[in-house]
Amino acid sequence: MSVRSFRKVLGRSLLGMAALVTGAIFVSSAAAQVPPIPVPPGGIPGLPPGVPGGAPTGVPGLPPIPGIPAPGGTPAVPNIPGMPATLFSPTGSLLMPAMKDETKKIYQKEIDALAATKKSQVEKIPLLTDSSKEEVNAFAGCDDSGKTFVVLTEGMYQMLDLMSQCRATDETFGTNYCDEYLKELAKQQEGKAKILPLPPGLLDPTKSLDQKKLKRQRQLFQEAAGYVVGHELAHHYMGHLGSACTGGPGGTMKPGDAVKLIKKVVPAVNQINESQSDSEGIKNLLDAGQNEADYKWSEAGGLMVIEFFKKLRDLNPSSVLFTFMKTHPEPEVRVFVVKQTANLWRMQHPGAVTGNGGTGGGPTAPKLPIPTIPGIPAPAPK
Ligand SMILES: [Zn+2]
Repeated sequence: MSVRSFRKVLGRSLLGMAALVTGAIFVSSAAAQVPPIPVPPGGIPGLPPGVPGGAPTGVPGLPPIPGIPAPGGTPAVPNIPGMPATLFSPTGSLLMPAMKDETKKIYQKEIDALAATKKSQVEKIPLLTDSSKEEVNAFAGCDDSGKTFVVLTEGMYQMLDLMSQCRATDETFGTNYCDEYLKELAKQQEGKAKILPLPPGLLDPTKSLDQKKLKRQRQLFQEAAGYVVGHELAHHYMGHLGSACTGGPGGTMKPGDAVKLIKKVVPAVNQINESQSDSEGIKNLLDAGQNEADYKWSEAGGLMVIEFFKKLRDLNPSSVLFTFMKTHPEPEVRVFVVKQTANLWRMQHPGAVTGNGGTGGGPTAPKLPIPTIPGIPAPAPK
């Protein structure tokens, strides 16, 4: 979305892809393996009974322990044997510092994968975090002095984590938690956007801490974060911000800017620029993914993000989330652009594998049908 026209009001210029909700995330080297997380039958030493990974409740002789917080949104419990406390929480969500760190690394990898002319325009643009947990949003923009930045809110990180968790669980166990979660989420977005914890069944440690699920969850998060930041980077190197943002890299954002902006940005959505950024961002993600040693990123995480918000809109068109959806092109358009771009990229890179090319463990990126555009001959099937 283009926010230039609001500069006079806000003293800021932002372009972005926005969405609205709240959640949790991860960091650490993208190339690192997700280590095994064994949960012994009696629970992980040091964890109290009743929490995921802890000893089972109701064990004879073990009295109930009061004051144990419910699973979901649980902060990191450091130094749990066998668990990398810097990556996943005891409930199997990605931790916020880890998500920020991981996304910064992906952002840099995407910059490095750009052609020289594009790279030179964005290589020093910082990736910032807005601490708002109630805004699910991402922007490309610049500050009062025209200095540029890309911003993700903590709410966006949280939402990407929640989507990755439920999708990875559903893929691994054949469950339907994403739909269950979406239905509950859609019901509760009246008046104020609200991020909810995941369904309790999903937080059963036999699912939430399953190694295959955690590995797939991390892949999806990487792809989703890579899609979001790749889209915002494209706004910069495609020149969508225009003359307002010529102060060079190094912009800053004040707390609350993201919240103010979202209320002003709806009329400024430029579908052409948004579709261009989706297309460029996906190509950038697929290019960068080829340099990954193990799992080569696909468009699946990006489609997960778009389709999540589409379902939310369909379930409750009057929700606050739906209002946020108006700051972006219709998801149907975005799904089309992303799928089309990825399919064309694969045709141009016949030896390249995306999705499950390495030893990733996720499903192989499906061979998607290439839609026909009126007036444009359909590409020959591979
Ligand atoms: Zn955008």
